[in-house]
Amino acid sequence: MSLNFTHDPARRSWVDSANLPDADFPLQNLPFGVFRTSGNPTRRLGVAIGDRILDLRAAAAAGLLPEPVIPASQHPSLNALLALGAPAWSAVRARLSELLDAASPVAELRQRVETCLVPMRSATLLLPAHIGDYTDFYASIHHATNVGSMLRPENPLLPNYKWVPIGYHGRGSSIVASGAAIRRPHGQLKPADAPAPVFAPCKNLDYELEIGAFVGPGNALGERLPLSAAPQHLFGIVLLNDWSARDIQTWEYQPLGPFLSKNFASTISPWVVTLEALAPFRVPAMPRPASDPAPLPYLVDHYDATHGGLDLTLEVWLLTAKMRLAGDTPHRISRGKFTEMYWTLGQLLAHHASNGCNLSPGDLLGSGTVSGTARDTRGCLLEYTWRGTDPLRLPNGEERKFLADGDEVILRGYAERPGARRIGLGECRGLIMPAG
Ligand code: CA
Repeated sequence: MSLNFTHDPARRSWVDSANLPDADFPLQNLPFGVFRTSGNPTRRLGVAIGDRILDLRAAAAAGLLPEPVIPASQHPSLNALLALGAPAWSAVRARLSELLDAASPVAELRQRVETCLVPMRSATLLLPAHIGDYTDFYASIHHATNVGSMLRPENPLLPNYKWVPIGYHGRGSSIVASGAAIRRPHGQLKPADAPAPVFAPCKNLDYELEIGAFVGPGNALGERLPLSAAPQHLFGIVLLNDWSARDIQTWEYQPLGPFLSKNFASTISPWVVTLEALAPFRVPAMPRPASDPAPLPYLVDHYDATHGGLDLTLEVWLLTAKMRLAGDTPHRISRGKFTEMYWTLGQLLAHHASNGCNLSPGDLLGSGTVSGTARDTRGCLLEYTWRGTDPLRLPNGEERKFLADGDEVILRGYAERPGARRIGLGECRGLIMPAG
């Protein structure tokens, strides 16, 4: 995926808020989402620019979109656009980039675009796609090693880890948009020293900081997707919070893996940042020690090895009920790097389809918890507090081993490097409600 004029860091938009240095959605980003407004409850596609949304349905009616994407722009979700593939995604990005550029549009054209802009604060941001299937991976070797160390100190990393991108099938139906309340789940809990489990509200509720990648055209059942085709099949990414009930998980996960400890809710950020927008931030896949096995041939591709990583910085922030009452700002718990993932997004896609499993437009692939080795780079409380043995201490004196009711978890992410315009992923928020 090559750089083009849409990535030029010198370009500015006539939407002034897009030009602020710390804006998540400058002209170089142009992420896609779905929204509605109180004045117009129709669910419709939009593209974020600064603090505005460009309504794609209105833009199509105003004759502003490239012909091939007009039918897809009428849908209430991104799925039809995802099915069109990378050339169509690029065409609409290029057109919108021109239309919103401070230098290019003539006055009449700009007026037509202005009629399609909606203030983001007046919109409700919805799930960007119908997510037919959701798979969550385990691509951070640091996360896998940390969690393994708690369970099996003598043998933290299982022997398959460096060969297989480990994953499990999650649940699409319970993925919610940022801002939706998260009800503390009930489940079977069994303390190690208790003779039998009880059915009760989860006590050890956790977040997991992840990236979610949306699948584009996908593959037919029985066909594989070569790793070299990944750039044509991955549309873009969101922040993903894979809420996890650790006490339910501990009791249920053997032998088939997580189930009700994970599928009560997962939250994603509303704006899908395209991989084309992230092209300036592509980096080599994480270097592997020479002693590690080389991946099997279907997981090797020159472009993926040299450009399959993404230089993203990902953060977790917490706002407790007490902090909210006091008017405090959220506290940053951790800040990690997506460059430290053992498997690339392309490898996750190619592995998923390697047995002929069909992937469809709108399927979501979770990266797994993004963690590093240092404490303040660990992407969940299980790791950060080392199973609750070393609690998180907040500036106001509160402590957390796991999440309390009234806690709001806020994920943020951005890409930043010299020579490129900083772009953001926006926010992924969820507030914990008491068990029902
Ligand atoms: Ca996870």
